Amino acid sequence: MKSHVQVAVIGGGVVGCSVLYHLAKAGWREVVLIERNELTSGSTWHAAGGMHTINGDPNVSKLQQYTINLYNEIEKISGQSCGVHITGGLMLAGTSERMDWLRLVHSRGRYLGIETEFVGMDEAAKLFPLLDKQYFVGALFDPIEGHVDPAGVTHAFAKAARVHGAEVHRFTQVTDLAPLPDGSWNVITEKGNIRAEHVVNAGGLWAREIGRMAGLELPILAMEHQYLISEEIPEVAQSATEMLHIVDFEGEIYMRQEGKGMLLGTYERAGVPWSERTTPWEFSLELLPPDLDRIAPSLEIGFKHYPPIEKAGIKKIINGPFTFAPDGNPVIGPVRGLKNYWVACGVMAGFSQGGGVGLSLANWMVHGDPGADIWAMDVARFGDWTTTAYTNAKVRENYSRRFRIRFPNEELPAGRPLRTTPVYDRLKAKGAVFGFAFGLEHALWFAPAGTEAVEDVTFRRSNAHSPVAAECHAVRKAVGLLEISGYAKYEVAGAGAEAWLSRLLANRVPRRGRILLDPMLNREGKLIGDFTVARIGPESFLIFGSGIAEQYHMRWFEGHLPDRGVAVRSLRSELVGFAVAGPRSRELLARLVAEDVSNDGFSFLSIRRMEVGMIPATIGRISFSGELGYEIWVGADHQLALYELLIEAGTGLGLRHYGARALASMRLEKSFGNWAREFRPIYGPLEAGLDRFLALEKGDFIGRDAALREREHGPRRRLVTLIVDDDGVDAIGDEPVFHDGEAVGWITSGGYGHVVAKSLALAYVPAHLAQAASAIEVEILGVRRPATIMLGPVYDPDGLRMRT
Ligand SMILES: Cc1cc2nc3c(=O)[nH]c(=O)nc-3n(C[C@H](O)[C@H](O)[C@H](O)COP(=O)(O)OP(=O)(O)OC[C@H]3O[C@@H](n4cnc5c(N)ncnc54)[C@H](O)[C@@H]3O)c2cc1C
Repeated sequence: MKSHVQVAVIGGGVVGCSVLYHLAKAGWREVVLIERNELTSGSTWHAAGGMHTINGDPNVSKLQQYTINLYNEIEKISGQSCGVHITGGLMLAGTSERMDWLRLVHSRGRYLGIETEFVGMDEAAKLFPLLDKQYFVGALFDPIEGHVDPAGVTHAFAKAARVHGAEVHRFTQVTDLAPLPDGSWNVITEKGNIRAEHVVNAGGLWAREIGRMAGLELPILAMEHQYLISEEIPEVAQSATEMLHIVDFEGEIYMRQEGKGMLLGTYERAGVPWSERTTPWEFSLELLPPDLDRIAPSLEIGFKHYPPIEKAGIKKIINGPFTFAPDGNPVIGPVRGLKNYWVACGVMAGFSQGGGVGLSLANWMVHGDPGADIWAMDVARFGDWTTTAYTNAKVRENYSRRFRIRFPNEELPAGRPLRTTPVYDRLKAKGAVFGFAFGLEHALWFAPAGTEAVEDVTFRRSNAHSPVAAECHAVRKAVGLLEISGYAKYEVAGAGAEAWLSRLLANRVPRRGRILLDPMLNREGKLIGDFTVARIGPESFLIFGSGIAEQYHMRWFEGHLPDRGVAVRSLRSELVGFAVAGPRSRELLARLVAEDVSNDGFSFLSIRRMEVGMIPATIGRISFSGELGYEIWVGADHQLALYELLIEAGTGLGLRHYGARALASMRLEKSFGNWAREFRPIYGPLEAGLDRFLALEKGDFIGRDAALREREHGPRRRLVTLIVDDDGVDAIGDEPVFHDGEAVGWITSGGYGHVVAKSLALAYVPAHLAQAASAIEVEILGVRRPATIMLGPVYDPDGLRMRT
């Protein structure tokens, strides 16, 4: 073994081998993979090898497409067969809600280049003769589904990596990792130590253990998973073509042909975790004892839906563990605070995702950027709040719901409440229906007195529709109160703070007492942040951003800090706050503070420390609703007292609580973008309409050259607001936009604008179509609807109300 390498990939399952291949292909030299046993000694060994392109996140779908297309390439390079069977697949729906979900999947496919097709049940029964069609209402055919040979794929990746110069060391266990002063790692193995400039944790079932070697607790848990192989089925044995891949949502079953029978797997509701705290090192190329009783309810449905399988009987049952993250998506990327330590784990669908995970991680390591929008897979979407017990609760929930519909307005209950602010009980008493973001409970809307604070889950308008309308009207006409503690808050201080922020952010650094909206770009000039930056002292700043991106942003901040002169700190639970917004918000504030809060005394985008009653607060004059409004920030220990004061002072002013749903409606009316929807690392600032927040002339900053190029060539696409010709159904995001029958763009957010009384959406369309006259349509739940492009906000386009 070499004593010094550029990268040591730990783990020779499908994921580690894919990472190795992509690193070697990208030209990195001295690339080694270390495997404690034979390759495929973890969950890869007993996988069913099924693959498909569909995923809840369109960006992950794209990477799944990439993975499936890659098999040809690695077969050619390695000479090793991957055993690819592209059979096509049917997704079977047993309810009208499931049909809605399939319509959504089908629509999304239109702009991803995934050509799915609806088939009637007669046609479905011809395509898959084992099914009893009385249990289904419709089906979606996907031509790019099938299965591979898991060992073949893993070896093909490893061999192809060797062709590109990588090395594989089998039967070598990594027993520990030690960071070295220059940022590299001492990789301690049974057979000697290697100094690696980078390490990749691709430990699969043992990813937690390899995390712990570096002091990291990864949010990952393995679940037992069972599939059975049937005896020979005459219909299968006699079929001229291979059976399709099947997903039966109501049965919670997947199937494919195996020999002359079928392989049938299920994600049972009462799933069982495996090795909850530590994974035994002795486990290898092993199976777990089958437990037929546990999957009996699903099998019963399966036998009913596919009678020939019951007739044939069961030949073999496989039970094996594989890992999941709390939301079921992979966990990849650089780890905040651990230099040159990368993770590629929690991959629950290695044969659909392994290639895309390998590509993204290799891009990230080689070029500093994953090269695609992998937010849904980024390790930074979790944080120190993702404890092992939380992960355990969430992974069980996710496993049990694998084939259940996740409605766009559905909030899942496991692992909650976890983080709450002091005002939580008060809001609950007011009828708050809570959502969950980055571990924190936050109010979505308020159920009127006498009604149950529960939201119906649906693809259409829910029972929240009219209470949210009332909240929006109250804000636009009088004054509303919203808890905003869930925003990310950072304190930046030090003699070098101004210069550092100027280099990091694309807009200017504000003067003392002022607030600016400030995008953050990566080197490729793509949006990696949208902040509100406030200067509260000569050398001290408060930055507000998206709550869910706290870890993502802290990783970037810390990765760009100079050796001295600047300190950055998250104020996550320390600083909590409320927004008060609406034409009467000034009167409300004036009742509580001694300062002059008139437009002259406290103008738009000012920030100042004030006493609210007896409470020390920092108040910014800013509002995401588009109304006159203020954000009031206090220490967590003052939040309850502040709340009481605000409620009392609101008497007679029409003060009403509002929640995130009302805010979402009002920001659509104002065409305000949101992180992770309109603002993501695939969009340039000009595309996103943030031109006016770029200070291209201020001097150098990260991404400036790329932004200048974007300005010179003009953006390829543009963010526009759409008024949708609705019939009671609103867009939710990720629907396609059509022009002349072609899918030319996609919706990023949608909903109902309660005050303008219109169904609205924000969408990216090709720049040449970003004009009012363009004839476009959007497809919502399978129905094409005309939409009108607006070049500005539909509500208060000149922004006079915020500045009043
Ligand atoms: C029953 C079953 C059915 C499945 N069906 C499918 C399916 O149909 N389709 C699909 O896409 N996925 C399926 N999967 C999931 C799939 O197996 C996983 O997504 C995939 O195997 C994950 O691969 P991995 O490389 O991340 O992990 P693993 O396969 O667990 O690989 C980790 C490797 O790291 C090595 N290692 C760990 N620690 C060390 C160390 N300290 N030193 C050196 N080496 C180390 C291990 O020996 C192991 O070889 C199934 C899984 C199971 C169990």
